[in-house]
Parts: sequence; structure tokens; C-alpha cells
Amino acid sequence: MRVLLVEDHQAIREMIADHLRERGFAVDAFERGEHALAGARVAPFDAVVLDLGLPDIDGMQLLMALRTVQPEVPAIIVTARDGVEERLRGLNSGADDYIVKPFNLLELEARLRAVLRRVGSRRETRYSLGGVAFDTVSREATVLGRPLDLTRREAALLEELLRVPGQVLTKDRLEDRLYAMEDAGSANALEAAVSRLRRKLAQAHAAVSIETKWGIGYRLIEEPSA
Ligand code: CA
Repeated sequence: MRVLLVEDHQAIREMIADHLRERGFAVDAFERGEHALAGARVAPFDAVVLDLGLPDIDGMQLLMALRTVQPEVPAIIVTARDGVEERLRGLNSGADDYIVKPFNLLELEARLRAVLRRVGSRRETRYSLGGVAFDTVSREATVLGRPLDLTRREAALLEELLRVPGQVLTKDRLEDRLYAMEDAGSANALEAAVSRLRRKLAQAHAAVSIETKWGIGYRLIEEPSA
């Protein structure tokens, strides 16, 4: 899951970004609204965490602009303004939830998962193929009901592949979904994640395999049972 974080206070921004990354989200963090909007146009995102008081644009206006790029994307407003009026304005402008500073990171994470789950109830949140299942909200993977221990990158990769079984996903698209912009780093990161995931699936006797389409990308297919 990719989260767009917009917060001009550096320490708060880094604290939220670090926490969410540790918990398995790809986070693109921005200080300014205009940069967030530009970032939103580059790659799709699953949720927005947004400060209201930004240096260049009002957070509510930014949210409306982001929704023209990605309609209905779930949004949580993080703000120091705790007046009832602000709160109502936030919710009326289409934010899904509201959290007032100072706040606990675990609470923010829980609320983020809750809005994702609500939106997810309108979409599919659990994918499965060949005995492998992935829950996009709890981020848990299982093989034949047993938990599969994956890093956050491997989990994100499995999620993308399971979402569209049999369909080839290009490397570009997978990289967009797996890596936030600032850590798009090494060219072999995706290949390395694919081989680790392959190994773990094989060790767990999953009846699926990740097929390489040379020069294009990867797809997940079900293996005929023995
Ligand atoms: Ca601010």
C-alpha cells in the first residue's frame, strides 16, 4: 500500500513516515502541497495522510485537488486545529478521519488501517490463489492456512501479483507500487525481492509460481496439483 504523506513539520513528517514504513507501507512524504500533488500524478496511491496547515496551500484545498487525481482515495487529516468548526469542515470536505496533534503513532496507524478497511469493503481485501492468501488490510500472507513470514517488500510484491493472477505485471508498474519515490534506488531490488519470494513460496509448498516474462515483467500462476 502506498501512502501519500503531506506534513510541513520535518520532525513529525519523518516520525510518521518512519513508523508507517516499518509497518509495511510505502510512504511518499512531502513538505509542500504542490510537490504532493505532483507526486500524486506520477504514481497511484492508496491513502493520504495530510496536515491542514501547509506553507503553500490549505490542506482542504489540497485534498480536493488530490481527489481530482484519485477520486475517493481515503484521507486522514492530522492537525493541531482541534476546534469543532475545523473538524466539521474537514469531514465535510471528504476526509475519512481526523486526528489531533499530539497523537500516538499506533493510533494513527490503526485509524489508517480502519479507513483502508472501510474503503476495502467496497473493494476486494483478500486475494488467494493455489492455497496462497493475502489480506491487504492486516498484511498477512498464508499458505494453506499457515502464516508465511515475509518482509514488507515481499508482502507488497505478493499482493500485487495475487491481485491479478495470470496477468503479466510490468517491472515499471511493480516498482511504482513497491517503492516510494525516494527509495527507488537499486535497479536489482525488484529482481531480488522476486527471487526471495519465490524461495519462500516454494519452501511453504505453495501451488503457485512466479513466472518471468523476459523483458516485460512477472506473473503469478497456479501450478497444476501433483
Ligand atoms: Ca503544518
